[in-house]
Amino acid sequence: MITASNLTKKYGEKTAVKNINLSVKKGELFAYLGPNGSGKSTTIKMLMGLLEPSDGSVEILGEPMHLNNTELKRKISFVPDTPDIIGKLTGNEYLNFVASIYKMDKETYKNKREELVNMFELGNDLGVLVEEYSHGMRQKLAVIGALMHSPEVIFLDEPNVGLDPKSNRELKNYLTDYVRQGNTVFLTTHTLSLAEEIADRICIIYQGEIKALGTLAELREQAGVGRTLEDIFLALTDGEDVHVQEHTES
Ligand code: ADP
Ligand code: MG
Repeated sequence: MITASNLTKKYGEKTAVKNINLSVKKGELFAYLGPNGSGKSTTIKMLMGLLEPSDGSVEILGEPMHLNNTELKRKISFVPDTPDIIGKLTGNEYLNFVASIYKMDKETYKNKREELVNMFELGNDLGVLVEEYSHGMRQKLAVIGALMHSPEVIFLDEPNVGLDPKSNRELKNYLTDYVRQGNTVFLTTHTLSLAEEIADRICIIYQGEIKALGTLAELREQAGVGRTLEDIFLALTDGEDVHVQEHTES
């Protein structure tokens, strides 16, 4: 579903993402973890075809991803880390706009929208201009917009930041169900308990490189008895002596 081969991004002299190799299967919920500045958002933007890799390539749904592959982009979706939704639109106008981009038919739009708006309890705020929304409300609107057309592959960059506990739980349940239906989710988060709870596989990156990749059980096995994901994460990302065997896919 998602394959990155030797994916690399350089910003001037700085290499933000170094030679990433990974593949995410259909129906998998993949958590991509790493401290601030480790290259998570840069990776996602390359996978999504929003940013040109300096080296390496990406395949999504078996097709090569390029900046101008609009047809392929229509099948996937993205929740950015900062939901920059045009402030002069109301929530309603934004969702109508998204539905038109994805050429959703009226009936599907009506139903999906109602389901998601109720889930996040955003119904009362849809007539309000987005510039008056709180961060959490923007986040909800971005998530609704991204899920509405039921993309086969969805990328979410720290989607739980700013969401209230109930919405977080709803989102968690929705994503768990969503992958069960055969869709694919690529998620970044700093909430390790969330990754522990819902991810099928976890990848930990540090300074643009993969430090560990596997199921939670596999990561624990490599790290030794009794270690939590937090122990493993901190060991791999603080530059200390690392006791977890590094692992990348070939
Ligand atoms: P993360 O999402 O894991 O916090 P990012 O992918 O945003 O990390 O950033 C990875 C590194 O690349 C950081 O050192 C960041 O400063 C740098 N970086 C990100 N975007 C740019 C950019 N547009 N120009 C220059 N450097 C950037
Ligand atoms: Mg980021």
